[in-house]
Amino acid sequence: MSTLRFHALKQISTRKPVEVQEPHRRSEIYATNVFNKKAMRQFLTKTSFNSLMDAIEKGTKIERHLADYISTGMKEWAISKGVTHYTHWFQPLTGSTAEKHDAFFDIDDDLSAIEKFGGSALVQQEPDASSFPNGGIRNTFEARGYTAWDPTSPAFIWGTTLCIPTVFVSYTGEALDYKTPLLRSLQVLDSAATKVVQYFDKKVKKVNATLGWEQEYFLIDKDLANSRPDIMLSGRTLLGHAPAKGQQLDDHYFGSIPSRILNYMRDLENECMLLGIPAKTRHNEVAPNQFELAPIFEEANLAVDHNLLLMDVMGKVAERHNFKVLFHEKPFAGVNGSGKHNNWSLATDTGINLLSPGATPMKNLQFLTFFVNTIKAVHDYEELIRAAIATASNDHRLGANEAPPAIISVFIGSQLDEVLNELEKVTDGKLSPQEKTELKLNVVGKIPEILLDNTDRNRTSPFAFTGNKFELRAVGSTANCSNAMTVINTIVARQLEEFKKEVDALIATENMKKDDAIFNVLREYIKASKKIRFEGDGYGDAWEKEALKRKLSNNKTTPIALKAKISPLAIDLYTRMEVMNEVEIQARYDIEMEEYAKHIQIEGRVLGDIARNHVIPTAIRYQNILIENVKGLKDIYGDSFKTYAEEQLRIIEAISGHIAKINKATTQMIDARKKANKLTCIEEKAIMYCDEVKPYFDDIRYHCDKLEVLVDDELWPLTKYRELLFTH
Ligand code: ADP
Ligand code: MG
Repeated sequence: MSTLRFHALKQISTRKPVEVQEPHRRSEIYATNVFNKKAMRQFLTKTSFNSLMDAIEKGTKIERHLADYISTGMKEWAISKGVTHYTHWFQPLTGSTAEKHDAFFDIDDDLSAIEKFGGSALVQQEPDASSFPNGGIRNTFEARGYTAWDPTSPAFIWGTTLCIPTVFVSYTGEALDYKTPLLRSLQVLDSAATKVVQYFDKKVKKVNATLGWEQEYFLIDKDLANSRPDIMLSGRTLLGHAPAKGQQLDDHYFGSIPSRILNYMRDLENECMLLGIPAKTRHNEVAPNQFELAPIFEEANLAVDHNLLLMDVMGKVAERHNFKVLFHEKPFAGVNGSGKHNNWSLATDTGINLLSPGATPMKNLQFLTFFVNTIKAVHDYEELIRAAIATASNDHRLGANEAPPAIISVFIGSQLDEVLNELEKVTDGKLSPQEKTELKLNVVGKIPEILLDNTDRNRTSPFAFTGNKFELRAVGSTANCSNAMTVINTIVARQLEEFKKEVDALIATENMKKDDAIFNVLREYIKASKKIRFEGDGYGDAWEKEALKRKLSNNKTTPIALKAKISPLAIDLYTRMEVMNEVEIQARYDIEMEEYAKHIQIEGRVLGDIARNHVIPTAIRYQNILIENVKGLKDIYGDSFKTYAEEQLRIIEAISGHIAKINKATTQMIDARKKANKLTCIEEKAIMYCDEVKPYFDDIRYHCDKLEVLVDDELWPLTKYRELLFTH
């Protein structure tokens, strides 16, 4: 009997929900482990408090001596909460977060023990970072990387460690992380958007991007997960026959949450509260054992940090509840995969959501300005958005009839579609007073009323307008949202800069009124970006054909999609907007291509191992049992044994057939891998892994899955789909 699988199954039959301590009120514990304004007021001097607030709100520099006061205040606050260590918490290009803990504990000059945390330790650190991906930016002789404090995301306590969010840059100043380009993109967006808002409202001094992510995940019993080498090493099942029941009855989505899972969620949410992550929504997702957590939206940089922190916390809380969280986009074939919808909008420092229609025609012209400019930006840079969500794991999900296709399009709902169609007809040049009145009353003026009862939802669209925000639905569940958010912020910033230039030019040269000029420019944008708008079914084949006609990109695999990252268009965009320089752009491209090849390589190795060392030996063992049985029948019945051994003989042959096919495909896959590994060009290697190694996976899997349904259940070593998906 295969011990690991059955041991795990026995183990989980004894599991009980783990008790969770609830606070009297969650709001009472909210953000108590965050060095927020309240803690700052209590632990900082007035001057250092003001200087830190200026750094957060206006991006001003903190003076050296004040940094010492701030670090001391932070240390005292942390120690008062039982903290012993601090760490610079950063986001290297591995996709997860990194931390190296140092104790506050130190030995003073007179050899007495003290707790110390100076301003320089807060502001900058030099971790030995030579092992993080850098895409050739850091030569080995100059392998220094620096982490530098990002005061716009508050320090927090996790466990007994004070975590300080930081950026990670090379000695020569190039970004080695996801946060640095995100912060730069937020800055250019703020600057461009603020200038445009001032056409409508002079009081606005700052515009923030807002992000509300929705994190989907699978929760599997720890012992069951550990019994599968593929889940352990690649985060997903590489084989496994579909269970008799999957999600076809639609009985999991929004269903009653099982007790063990609910207690996990409660525990997790309480941790979120302490850390200031505003967790709001929890529910069962479409696939069995799939769930979702969504917070209240926040400023984008903070929201990204909170998502990354959440993913870390989710894994740790899962340990307490004997679960393993699977973030992979497609851990199980045949049922839904996981995504991370990125809800994105723009908010002013006066509290206005720029993608929310207002009460007056002028407010609605402001809404339309940001709305149309965003659509135009997506139209011009759709391939960059596709590239930002491209990973080996997300490839399984995109276009798989559950997630948006690899074609980027914008859904706005039929009513706004009509509004844009009307605006397309606006007169070229100055508008007559009648036309303006007509527009204000019947087109622009109608918007709030339309949106209030706008129930239009199109789940198949990758970039959908949902009333007061855009929702990028194609982001993968494992992703660092920065990647996609940096693109959206940068392209919208560039677009708004163009818009401002064009409107100003019309006002100056054509002597137009401001709103005439705005209508004129928007009209041209609506026309120019029409082909990105699609209201129909994004999952259908018809859309693929139509998209091809419209000349929209349809980059199905990661190596193809990533190419857009180094296109002249991308280089021009990022360098002009000063979000990334050419070295940084190329480095990221190389890193992501390499990461793709490595992922497929690992999966190939694991699959080869499971097929050869688990599946085939098990099949042979079962075949031997059958052979013994046939021999016995022959002993008893002599020549007429075949009457009784017909089925056994058929299975014996079928097993041999599948074994031969698995062996052949595995050998071919290994040969293809060897060929790919010889390539020195990262790009060629990734393409070869995609086109020549990966295709064997399906073939190997098909025959392994066939064996799974032939072989005696008691012998099968790999925990089955029905056990992974239906036990908790
Ligand atoms: P759904 O899209 O599932 O119908 P909601 O419309 O309530 O649900 O919003 C989903 C997500 O959108 C939430 O995580 C929320 O934080 C986020 N969200 C709402 N408003 C904004 C906004 N102005 N900016 C960014 N995210 C937002
Ligand atoms: Mg949503």
